Amino acid sequence: MAECKDIAEEASNLLDGDLSLRKQIGLYLHLFYCSCCRNYMQQLKQTISTISVLRPTEKDDTDKSALAKQLQELSKKQH
Ligand SMILES: [Zn+2]
Repeated sequence: MAECKDIAEEASNLLDGDLSLRKQIGLYLHLFYCSCCRNYMQQLKQTISTISVLRPTEKDDTDKSALAKQLQELSKKQH
């Protein structure tokens, strides 16, 4: 049976579906009765979706360098 530490270790793999069915079932069973890990998974999912929204796609190279420039300007001002 999966424990909290298993959830912590395998959470990202579980979200990716990157585990054996047997392992997934074990983890989901744990999530079923452990609200603590459910909250953890919820937060992780939110973080991942936030990152994937914020993360520029390959096309956005120009935006990235513009952003880098802006950051450089900001750090210059601070010094
Ligand atoms: Zn747990």
